Amino acid sequence: MNPLFVIENEKFFKEDFLDDINEYDDIIPIIKERASKIKLDEIECVDLNDCCNKTKSNLYGDIVGYTDEDENFIFQEEIEEYKKQYGERFLNLYVIRIYKCLNCKKWLIDIME
Ligand SMILES: [Zn+2]
Repeated sequence: MNPLFVIENEKFFKEDFLDDINEYDDIIPIIKERASKIKLDEIECVDLNDCCNKTKSNLYGDIVGYTDEDENFIFQEEIEEYKKQYGERFLNLYVIRIYKCLNCKKWLIDIME
């Protein structure tokens, strides 16, 4: 079984994804591209994780970027380059957040816009 991507030796399998993976077709390639640069931290959520109701602990990692009006995703560190190329355009903050349950290893993606 091949993981979709690996972050800090932690494998993320399609089979363990808590949502419909097809809805994240455009997000997964971005995570794959960035996987080696993402840092995972252990965090406690306020409520028990929905997946198993056994823990509040999660591995958490995020990618901070922006989307433009054509829905292109721009990484934070590409912003200067982007502005040189396209000038000042209106950009939306777009954060891809990844949570993985420390008990059952199920994971999900949450987008903050
Ligand atoms: Zn769980």
